[in-house]
Amino acid sequence: MSILNADLHCHSVISDGTLTPEELAVRAQKNGVELWSLTDHDEIGGQQRAIAAARAVGLPFLTGTEISVSFAGKTVHIVGLGFDPDSDLLRQGLANTRGGRDQRAQEMADQLAAVGIRGAYEGALKHAGNPDLISRTHFARFLVETGVCHDTHEVFRRFLTEGKPGFVPHRWASLKDAVRWIVQSGGIAVIAHPGRYGFTANEEFALFSEFKHHGGQAVEVVTGSHTSAEYVTYAEMAIEFDLLASRGSDFHSPDESHTDLGALPWLPGHLKPVWDALLHSVH
Ligand code: AMP
Ligand code: MN
Ligand code: MN
Ligand code: MN
Repeated sequence: MSILNADLHCHSVISDGTLTPEELAVRAQKNGVELWSLTDHDEIGGQQRAIAAARAVGLPFLTGTEISVSFAGKTVHIVGLGFDPDSDLLRQGLANTRGGRDQRAQEMADQLAAVGIRGAYEGALKHAGNPDLISRTHFARFLVETGVCHDTHEVFRRFLTEGKPGFVPHRWASLKDAVRWIVQSGGIAVIAHPGRYGFTANEEFALFSEFKHHGGQAVEVVTGSHTSAEYVTYAEMAIEFDLLASRGSDFHSPDESHTDLGALPWLPGHLKPVWDALLHSVH
């Protein structure tokens, strides 16, 4: 076991979380987190607030983001940790990545209207703390608010996913670009929750191989998005591909997330923790 309560994956109102960076810092510290990162989707606009909030509660912090990538016909998430928060390369890359979200949201709303759900664009926008980052999560909250679904998990079973009303395929960043933006900004790239993508063994092998080829160095093993069987699977993948291992709750909201900040099993002790390679970047 690697006994550090590191939580290197969560979201604030800057993307699709419901808490502010300040509220997250306090919650993380109260929950016993010893090293924290805020990893908003396609956005680093909350990083300075998170740095200040973490410092105010005496919580060591690594800069973070979670980049949306298109790979093998699916959306894959690449987390970046420990980069320079003032990097223009990363800032511009993320701005381009999130650029199509508004148009996509309007098309999602058109599809929902076609099945009788009106006003979804405006309704989702009301839930978005950052309109540039309007996401499926905000649509999910609107569908719960209006009583169409009981909770956000039901939303993703009935809507917004491939083959269901409200799913609009989208072209995100390339794997190569996402890794390059992170690495050239001084950070480490991490494959987020690989167990979630539903890839075949061949597709998964391609993802890990290409990721490494482009300079990626780490993979999430212990995450709120994995089952305990997947901790074992991806611990083995980390060894096989000689990747550093990361740990993070993927916390979004006290009302929606099963895994709270810091409330995760330890990283297995035979893995190399990603944070050992990032000690020089801790704020
Ligand atoms: P987007 O970036 O707009 O495609 O939205 C993706 C976000 O939707 C993810 O980061 C999750 O927060 C949320 N999400 C996606 N699939 C699910 C699911 N099956 N259950 C709950 N939340 C989900
Ligand atoms: Mn999310
Ligand atoms: Mn993700
Ligand atoms: Mn996430």
